[in-house]
Amino acid sequence: MSSAPIGILGGTFDPIHHGHLRIAQEALEQCKLAQVRFIPSGTPPHRPAPQVSAKMRWEMVRLALNGSPDFLVDVREVFRTDPCYTVNTLKALRAELGAQQPLCLILGGDAFLQLHTWHEWQSLFGLAHIVVLQRAGGLPLGNAMEKADPALRSEYRARLVPGAGALHEAPAGAIFVADMPALEISSTDIRRRCADAKSVRYLVPDAVTNYINTHSLYRTC
Ligand code: ATP
Repeated sequence: MSSAPIGILGGTFDPIHHGHLRIAQEALEQCKLAQVRFIPSGTPPHRPAPQVSAKMRWEMVRLALNGSPDFLVDVREVFRTDPCYTVNTLKALRAELGAQQPLCLILGGDAFLQLHTWHEWQSLFGLAHIVVLQRAGGLPLGNAMEKADPALRSEYRARLVPGAGALHEAPAGAIFVADMPALEISSTDIRRRCADAKSVRYLVPDAVTNYINTHSLYRTC
């Protein structure tokens, strides 16, 4: 396989925070990715509508990534009003980047454990590898998988690879669990702090704190 894998990090980013940035950095380094593309969702299908507009969430992602040459923002989902299914985004990326380009979908452990509820979820393995990073507060992934959906568990067991090298050897189809320091940060917690008039400094990049304050975002939960 000629080129290094490209990482894909989808999210609502309502707002983006240091947990998102750190999973991208861990995946970049441990998997030797060429880059990570952050794809803010316009209309996320699996959750309630975001609190702030797609444009503002995208602007906060842009501010957060400023000065990180390995991280790019991809706007293909932001302004769509129909539900944005990851399978369709990956099909579009695959068509643009070619059949041989390895792609790695980066997911927190909480998102991975719900993968079986995603639209056409089993097609995802034909389009990308999956890199999972443990999320603070959850069971260790190995233990959580024992209680996971049986179909997801059998995909996990069949596709799990012990090293990131496998992600360079095929365009898609493997699952790799990368190390992640526990960072108990979530957008939900940040929104709650803002609603309580508490500071979110050091949980999000300074430019994002300034944006939230300037636009008086998340004043209600
Ligand atoms: P919310 O609290 O609104 O549900 P969130 O903090 O989970 O938001 P998302 O934008 O929904 O953020 O997450 C995008 C991706 O980042 C998901 O795969 C999620 O699991 C992962 N992620 C977010 N925060 C962390 C974290 N602190 N550690 C590991 N993974 C994370």
